[in-house]
Amino acid sequence: MLLYSTLDRHHRATFLEAVARGIPPGGGLYLPKKLAPLPGQLLTQDTPLPFPEIAYLIARSMLDGEIPDHELQAICEDAFAFPLPMRQLDNTLAALELFHGPTLAFKDFGARFLGRMLAYQRRGMKRETIVLVATSGDTGSAVASGCAGIDGIRVVLLYPEGKVSRIQELQLTAVAANVETVRVQGTFDDCQRMVKGAFADPTVTRALALTSANSINIARLLPQVFYYVAAWRQVNADDRGVIFAVPSGNLGNLTAGLMARAMGLPVKRFLAATNINDVLPEYLRTGVYRPRPAQSTLSNAMDVGDPNNISRITALFDENLESMRACIGAESRTDDDTRAAIANAFARYRYVFDPHGAVAYSVADRYRERHDPGAKFVVLATAHPAKFPEAYGGDLQHVIPLPDQLRGLADRPRQVLPMRARYEDLKALLMA
Ligand SMILES: *Cc1c(COP(=O)(O)O)cnc(C)c1O
Repeated sequence: MLLYSTLDRHHRATFLEAVARGIPPGGGLYLPKKLAPLPGQLLTQDTPLPFPEIAYLIARSMLDGEIPDHELQAICEDAFAFPLPMRQLDNTLAALELFHGPTLAFKDFGARFLGRMLAYQRRGMKRETIVLVATSGDTGSAVASGCAGIDGIRVVLLYPEGKVSRIQELQLTAVAANVETVRVQGTFDDCQRMVKGAFADPTVTRALALTSANSINIARLLPQVFYYVAAWRQVNADDRGVIFAVPSGNLGNLTAGLMARAMGLPVKRFLAATNINDVLPEYLRTGVYRPRPAQSTLSNAMDVGDPNNISRITALFDENLESMRACIGAESRTDDDTRAAIANAFARYRYVFDPHGAVAYSVADRYRERHDPGAKFVVLATAHPAKFPEAYGGDLQHVIPLPDQLRGLADRPRQVLPMRARYEDLKALLMA
């Protein structure tokens, strides 16, 4: 697979180079130069295939020999060894449950695949690879868990003290031997500044093989293409295809869906659902991209004021706003709308959406009613509701089953290193 940079169409990298670098040397984001058409056998819905097999077939066609077939197949089987159920809520609407991985959010797909790709890429190297991440919640635990126990990889994870939920903090601190979790006495911005400091410090980058695992790494995007295909195969859609409702923040999930469509998946439309951080809906409406500071909401993993995948999306449409509008509908919802959608889905279907999935459900339900009652809708349910107990009233809280992944979490041995919000302290830890 050859990739180019959204800032420099002439820049070229192989998939493994792009995985190792994260972002192109001159800035911008990596995108595949050509998107291979999906393997034909996947575009018939008659043979059920396990998800790791679907993943392998698409990855093999996209990577085009860069990783030997048997290695790639083993990576897919190991990365995606958890269920991916689709709940059909009524005749036209289904929820694709992307939250059965180890950290109970869809970020497990990307993080587990990335961890294994890093391990493959660094084989034969003597120095260990250090994955350095600043996190405000879900990303950090998915990356830590996705890289846990992988030989030759050391994860250093920074999170701001007092700024993550109780469950998130338990998930962040009860991890594996090759993961060091640092609780910074500061804000998320401090954590990010410290991480950027390390990447910009030649003494550190000369001595250590540093890499970042943030959401813009191409290896985190690919596995998200796979589950759109798996979902389509389970829905009885006609040739006009499925409408996907996508809870959106940094727009990685939406970008992957657009890639799947460009590879030939019959998708009728994407509904990008945001909370009040509505940069994308505003952009599609007005044509003006206006980044701004994020506001806090119930669906906090979507609290993004300058979505980092926006340049991938505009590149996929050759910067043409009209074709973007023809394919993507974007709408925003308030926290009150979100709570109402959670109550509505429970009353109608006895189904509990987490606050992120609920935003997408709300947008899908309204679109169905007003514009397309006969279409098939798939709502991407991105997180397990048990991760957000504070979003539910007492009557709902007790119907949410406690997933195995959270059982005993509070009793697991935990390790956390308190640190002042100073770059020199991080440097000392890295170089020790
Ligand atoms: C990260 C996240 C999102 C947003 O996904 P993007 O790819 O950043 O748009 C939505 N829901 C949950 C639960 C998340 O963790």
